[in-house]
Amino acid sequence: MRKILLTITAGISLCVVPVKAQFNTVAAVSNRYKVEILQTVTDNTELTPESGTSVRETSTDVLTSDDTDKKMWMDRYMSVSYPLRHIRITSPYGYRKDPFTGKKRFHGGLDLHARADEVLAMMEGVVVKVGQDKASGKYVTLRHGRYTVSYCHLSKILAVRGAVVHPRDVVGITGSTGRSTGEHLHITCRFDGENINPSVIFDYIRDTRQECVAALAGL
Ligand SMILES: [Zn+2]
Repeated sequence: MRKILLTITAGISLCVVPVKAQFNTVAAVSNRYKVEILQTVTDNTELTPESGTSVRETSTDVLTSDDTDKKMWMDRYMSVSYPLRHIRITSPYGYRKDPFTGKKRFHGGLDLHARADEVLAMMEGVVVKVGQDKASGKYVTLRHGRYTVSYCHLSKILAVRGAVVHPRDVVGITGSTGRSTGEHLHITCRFDGENINPSVIFDYIRDTRQECVAALAGL
């Protein structure tokens, strides 16, 4: 059984786009790998590329399928980032006792412990808003596909409206501006404009990384 290496162009999806999260950036990352997917096939495998799919032979000493897979999983791992280098949730999303009034009030985001820390973009996106108001203090809002993420109470804004951000780009420095009892990073998240629990994104980041680590370990 002779093994040949094929490069299949276009029309092939690697199924790395998660079902539950529809981030544009993730799709963009996987799209890159639609271009070149190396597969090992045997002589008796009938090649029936779908319409629009071209198949060409390539030398095995240029790139092995393992190399391509490794790069793909590493790129995918790097396509997401937690917003701070150390994550400790100090106040989750949901009803809580308001730190100012002591009354029950809905907390529409989640709070992370922070001390003059760099705030990182969690994935590729665009800066859609920067500003300052009494409630949020200095804030930066990023769009990731149908999701928007706002980082609030910053001491410093390090992003410009309209700029493209990549995962791990620093968009601000944490602080305690606005309606804040002490330094922390407050994150709010919207999906199609509707406020949602930001832990959805954290779960997505965790799942993506776990998936990549498992895939890399199996190569
Ligand atoms: Zn908060």
